[in-house]
Parts: sequence; C-alpha cells; structure tokens
Amino acid sequence: MIYLKTDEEIELMRVANRLVGATLAEVAKHIAPGVTTLQLDKIADTFIHDHGAIPLFKGYNGFPNALCISVNEQVVHGIPGGYALKDGDIVSVDCGTKINGYCGDSAYTFEVGEVAPEVKKLLQTTKEALYEGISVAVEGKRIGDVSHAVQIYCENRGYSVVRELVGHGIGKVMHEDPEVPNYGKRGYGPLLKNGMCIAIEPMINLGTKNVKFDKKDGWTVRTADRKPSAHFEHTVAIRPGKADILSTFEMIDQVLQNK
Ligand code: MG
Ligand code: MG
Repeated sequence: MIYLKTDEEIELMRVANRLVGATLAEVAKHIAPGVTTLQLDKIADTFIHDHGAIPLFKGYNGFPNALCISVNEQVVHGIPGGYALKDGDIVSVDCGTKINGYCGDSAYTFEVGEVAPEVKKLLQTTKEALYEGISVAVEGKRIGDVSHAVQIYCENRGYSVVRELVGHGIGKVMHEDPEVPNYGKRGYGPLLKNGMCIAIEPMINLGTKNVKFDKKDGWTVRTADRKPSAHFEHTVAIRPGKADILSTFEMIDQVLQNK
C-alpha cells in the first residue's frame, strides 16, 4: 500500500528530515581519528532528544542505538561501539528521527582524515548517483527509472551496486511501500505520483557487489571482499517536474567546509 501525503504531511516530514540533517551535521563536527562510533551515537541520541524528537532506529527490530554507523567495508546497519576511527577510514552514518508523528531518514559517508584517492572517488560517485536518481524521481516516472539512473551512473564508472538492500517509501513509519532498489529497468515498477515520499539510498561498492550479513550481531552488512562501500540517502517527495528533497546535506557541507 503506497500512501500519498498531503501538502501538510509533507511539511511535517520536512521537519523530521531537516532534524536528521542537523543531527548528521552535529555528528560531522566530531568525526576525527580517535573518536569511537559509540561517542558519535551518544551525540546524536542527545541532540535528537533535545530537539523534541525520538531516534527512529533505536528499538527498531531490537536495534540498540540511535545511529547506524558503518566503517570501511561495512555497507550499512553497523552497530556503534568501541571502535575508534582511524586516519583514512570512511564512516557511513545513517540517521532517522520521528517528530509529530512523521519520520525522517538520511545518510552520509564521511572521510576520516586523509582518505585514499580511489576511496574519495567512490564517495563522490555514490553521492552523485543519489542526485542522478533524484533527478528522475518525478511525477509520471516509475521506480525503475530511479533505480536504473543510480545503477547506470555507478556501473559505468566501474563500481558495483548492492542488491540485497534497497530504499523505501517513508511516512508515519520508516519503511512503507514501495521498495526503491538501486538497480532496475527504465519504465518498470510502481508509478511515481504527486505526494509519494521515498528514501533513495545508493549503497555502492568499490569491489564486488556481494555482501555478507553478520550472523553474530544480527545486523552488520559487509562487502564480501572487504573492500570499501559508500552510502548516501535522501528522503524526497514526488512532485511534478522536480522532486522536493526533504532531507538536507547543507548543514553537513557547512561543517565540512569549516573543518
Ligand atoms: Mg537511512
Ligand atoms: Mg532508509
């Protein structure tokens, strides 16, 4: 069941999603060698509560923390813990909030210190692929158009696209219909209608597309070849002509420029 949102609901979703952007920016200030992923999680958890919202991921199917933090070969769903970030790491931070009954969801992959040029390029390409997908996320197109745009952009540049994990509809709950894969065929899949809200989230690997699910912690997804993986995500509302991007990287970009 795909729920179309009213203009009022979309404004409520913008509030939740802007708070996600602000939280990621707050986390960005503290990303540096020596900082543990659990410290970053605590910063986000406090920041979200201080703004009258709740962290969406905490307690979701038993997930223990406010953020998913995935380092290097970890694709998504990493559990914050005692790992201290090192110079040259990349760290994907996925954040969700709920406020006034509506959800926000966005993710960004950060560089820690000086990152290898080929890894920098992976991050840049994954972010660009997200905006390629968003560029066709408009009324009258189909989910497959978005999926195809992301896939082609990444594969043409020699990267691989994770198949097992996908974007999603979002609204009063984090995961609504439809699924939004990062691979697919142009002209296929559910029709995009005015008022649909979806999270588009390319998960792109430097090496193989294959991933492994950690059986011990039940959450962490890693690349099968242990090469790095990047993840960028925006929540957008489908509109005629141009998507309305409800989440934002503006506050993150400001922090990174001043670092
Ligand atoms: Mg997310
Ligand atoms: Mg998501």
